[in-house]
Amino acid sequence: MGLKLPTVPLPRGEIEVSSYSEEEIEVEAIRLQGAIRQHQRWPLETCRSIAPLTLEINRLKKEKDVFLIAHTYQTPDIIYGVADEVADSYTLSKAARDAPQQTILFSSVRFMAETAKIVSPNKTVLHPSPEAGCSLSDGITAQDVRDLRSKYPGVPVACYINTTAAVKAECDVSVTSSNYMRICERLPGERLIFVPDRFMGAHLQKALAGKKEVIVYDGECEVHEVFTGDKVREWKQRIGDNLTVLAHPECNADVLDEADFVGSSERLIQEAIRLGEEGEPDVMLITECGTAERVLAETETELNLYGACVMCRHMKATQLEDILQALTNPRSDQIIEIDSEIIAKAQRNLAEMFRLAE
Ligand code: SF4
Repeated sequence: MGLKLPTVPLPRGEIEVSSYSEEEIEVEAIRLQGAIRQHQRWPLETCRSIAPLTLEINRLKKEKDVFLIAHTYQTPDIIYGVADEVADSYTLSKAARDAPQQTILFSSVRFMAETAKIVSPNKTVLHPSPEAGCSLSDGITAQDVRDLRSKYPGVPVACYINTTAAVKAECDVSVTSSNYMRICERLPGERLIFVPDRFMGAHLQKALAGKKEVIVYDGECEVHEVFTGDKVREWKQRIGDNLTVLAHPECNADVLDEADFVGSSERLIQEAIRLGEEGEPDVMLITECGTAERVLAETETELNLYGACVMCRHMKATQLEDILQALTNPRSDQIIEIDSEIIAKAQRNLAEMFRLAE
């Protein structure tokens, strides 16, 4: 594999869990190593060091009847050690809503936990790392949307799902990386405002040219903006025609022009696995490193992953110890609270997304 993955997160030693026998720890360590399926990066010794934490988190989840959901970009110890459901933000919010448990722990960045609260306002939503933001969602405020509305009266506003509840409340509809094209095409009128991702917005401008004018806000994902078309072309020259390039739509247009396939994290994982199974193992995954880690764990087929993934510091802010602390005794800043008026307006926005995505 030509891909360099981030350093494995080890326990910080802030929380001691000592109530498990050596045998219980050994069994859990073997389970973890088997599930993560990266024996060199996650040797048994590393799995032994995190086993007491995963054992304790899984015990507390049962005792307190908590549903733990994790985004794809979380680290493998969280995904394969303690999560009940793993997917992208949109699927996870639906999972949060449909889960029978009344308490949801969302291991991810803040806007995703807020989206879970919007769709399940009567549930308690725990977010272990309140400081875990996102350059897209933190780059726009509700006032910015109100200013755009005054500048372009009557023009519908679509927001990427990577926005706060307050921003969603000011927009007409949310979109995800798998439905943004379809929804924006179906909005009424000849103009639309798209916030906050300028790269996805540029992709829309290109695709809808001649049909609709797309007014784009100037935000970006600090992870996906790092990739360049030049780097992709360099790898294509080095590996040759066998290389299949898969990219996330948060990348810039120059990268997307070089890609053979553009899709959400879940679609990229499915496509990489399909390529491996069909004898096309040379793949370049242009997105956050967590996507490659899931591909490695979830296929038996040998894949040659090339290029350099980029790690999201916000997504990687959460460690097992933060989850254990939030489960044991959540601080007030770890419980998602949103004003009921904002929830009601953001719910209308998400209902419109479900309607237009059909
Ligand atoms: S990868 Fe980009 S869009 Fe996703 S949470 Fe990190 S900064 Fe935000």
